[in-house]
Amino acid sequence: MPQWERDTWLVHAGTDFFGNLEPTALPIYPSTSYRSRSGEELDQLMGGTREGFSYARHGNPNVAALVEAMKVLEHAETGIATASGMAAIDAALYATGLAPHDRVLVSQDIYGASLSLLSSLWAEFGVETAVGEFTDADVFVSMLAEVRPKAVLIETISNPLLKVLDVPELVRLAHGHGAQVIVDNTFATPVMYRPAECGADLVVHSATKYLGGHGDAMGGVVLGRHQHEERLHQYLKLRGAVLGPFESWLIHRGLRTLGVRFEKQSANALQVAQKLQASGLFTHVYYPLFADHPTHATAQRLLPNMGGAVVTLELSGGKDRVFRFMDRLELIASATTVGDVYSLCLYPLIASHRNQTPEQRAQMGITDGTIRISIGLEDPGDIAGDLIQAATLSA
Ligand SMILES: *Cc1c(COP(=O)(O)O)cnc(C)c1O
Repeated sequence: MPQWERDTWLVHAGTDFFGNLEPTALPIYPSTSYRSRSGEELDQLMGGTREGFSYARHGNPNVAALVEAMKVLEHAETGIATASGMAAIDAALYATGLAPHDRVLVSQDIYGASLSLLSSLWAEFGVETAVGEFTDADVFVSMLAEVRPKAVLIETISNPLLKVLDVPELVRLAHGHGAQVIVDNTFATPVMYRPAECGADLVVHSATKYLGGHGDAMGGVVLGRHQHEERLHQYLKLRGAVLGPFESWLIHRGLRTLGVRFEKQSANALQVAQKLQASGLFTHVYYPLFADHPTHATAQRLLPNMGGAVVTLELSGGKDRVFRFMDRLELIASATTVGDVYSLCLYPLIASHRNQTPEQRAQMGITDGTIRISIGLEDPGDIAGDLIQAATLSA
């Protein structure tokens, strides 16, 4: 592989994929199957001794190009693309080889549906889940000893309070206890952090968010080591949660601008966070690079002087005030996703953390006034201005 820098790979990874057929943009291949030139060729394709495509559930050129790009960007040995981020998390759990009576240890503030997946479908299969707060490595060590998990599931940056975990340290400790580590890197993206470099066994993404980046394609990616390859492919072939060719193409196209988008959106987020803090209209502004953020020291050590593109706010006045605030927003859309080129507002109480009890939310630090803003590519002055006018008018 050429010794290119990240920004070069962002544009070129996965594009030299097509042998002697070299359009600069890969065409979309909707075909569900591929003609073989001979019985022997088909035999080899099906037996896996020959590279190529046979049936779309087993492989597709657009999907393969996206996976190739993500392998390069996350420094991984193998990977698959799935129909959504949730399917990616499910596939990663499967890849660890979980069996009935095995246990999974998860960080308390992981994506709500990830926790529900474990506590419903995987629980029915006999896998138990234990939950802890891992910004304190001592808590993690004692839970590892107590729970003896087969797998650990964490997120690089938590949602919505943006706590950055010490991924290298947690990976080292988990490996010391014989557990494999799955890192959901959706909020960080490979532009900001690459968990595989510090030994994380499996890395998952909701490609629906920053990788695609334009709010028009749902997908997921799992990256792992050679040892996971067979189970990951088995999962796709038999569960059938494959990513479609058009979604693969859109997400791969999104990847080419991920570097500039994420850097600009992060820079915007820092500026917006500073303006909001200076406005005095919010009781708290969470941003990973702020000195008063609870995981500031870890963020400084782990992240390349970049805090990501989400800013979380605390607004006083409870639910009624937050509803008035949301209704007053003119530029920023109220929507339940993150990572798009346009700014978005989410109210965890009624959306992402709706199914948690008030006690669980309190434990995580989420209140009736917590609001998550996904910062887009608009002018940072306009984004901050919209939030400031909505906070002022809703008071
Ligand atoms: C959105 C999200 C998911 C789920 O992804 P989908 O593409 O919606 O299935 C998982 N993890 C994180 C951190 C997310 O933000």
